[in-house]
Amino acid sequence: MIRFENVTKRYRGTKRPALDEVDFEVERGEFVFLVGASGSGKSTCLRLILREDVPTTGRVAVLGRDLRSLANRKVPYFRRNIGSVFQDFRLLPSKTVYQNVAFSLQVIGSSRGFIQQAVPEALALVGLEGKEKRMPHELSGGEQQRVAIARALVNRPQILLADEPTGNLDPATSVGIMQLLARVNAGGTTVLMATHEAGFVDQMQRRVIELQDGVMVRDESSGGYGDTSNIPRLTPEVLRGAAATAALTAVQEVQRQTEAVPVIVPDAPETAPSPPAESAPEPSADQAPPAAPEPTAPALPPDGHAPRTHPIVLPDVDVAELGVAGRLGLRDDDEEVGPTS
Ligand code: ADP
Repeated sequence: MIRFENVTKRYRGTKRPALDEVDFEVERGEFVFLVGASGSGKSTCLRLILREDVPTTGRVAVLGRDLRSLANRKVPYFRRNIGSVFQDFRLLPSKTVYQNVAFSLQVIGSSRGFIQQAVPEALALVGLEGKEKRMPHELSGGEQQRVAIARALVNRPQILLADEPTGNLDPATSVGIMQLLARVNAGGTTVLMATHEAGFVDQMQRRVIELQDGVMVRDESSGGYGDTSNIPRLTPEVLRGAAATAALTAVQEVQRQTEAVPVIVPDAPETAPSPPAESAPEPSADQAPPAAPEPTAPALPPDGHAPRTHPIVLPDVDVAELGVAGRLGLRDDDEEVGPTS
């Protein structure tokens, strides 16, 4: 679904490459953490996937398309398959919650009827019903990130890219966002998340790709963060402790829930991803942490890499209730993007 083949990226005027012979493949339905210190090349990877830039040498293929051969005029259509969220939310400050989410459909020419249906569905998906008329500055950081996630998902992308999505949030709020991303992934969306947050990576036990100075030094199917000594702590020491414990315990709980029913996702044409039946409540720092469940990390395959058919979990939801993929304004351009690789 996302393939990097010996990708090297050199920015003009720099001595060492931002990415150096990076080689990996992400399968449909995977949740992958991209980790590494600041400057290690994570954002460059995401930019290449979005075709905001092209490799100096090597090849990036996304959804079966070699991005180098993708004509510039087709790039906007290609990007409709990819949702993006960022550390700084990037909401339009003068637009309401509803308008922020609707905007991404308006720019691609979706019908008014479709927008009126899809936007409330997306906001329900992220737990923001009733806040449609709020302005971004009237929301908490966690709520603003939920709006950004709703905006990224309203078009039902096959891939969600998240660049430090919890970087501006406290631990308790971050866990709500992680729960949401885990549920989005459980519904079938491939998620690639760049992060510094070692706690989440350790607890989620998903695939980890680690970069160091542009070199891929690790690709583990269910790893932890690794050596965190060089990673800056975004949260002051005093704020960790109880809230962080609660946050991480809740992540374990999500992990336990979503690993209950393994489903093998076939390498077949896309079906409508199933959104979660209910939005995840955002735990507060003063909530008592739930009892820690037994770790349920899947066994490592012998080669230490993700299996080709990746077992993911579908929550027990009514797909038809919230499914909107069939009504999206993508049809005209679907043929622009070939079958997944
Ligand atoms: P990360 O996201 O892990 O912090 P980046 O991908 O942003 O890393 O950066 C990787 C390297 O490339 C860094 O050394 C950075 O300074 C350099 N870099 C990133 N963008 C540019 C650019 N537009 N021009 C020159 N150098 C850049």
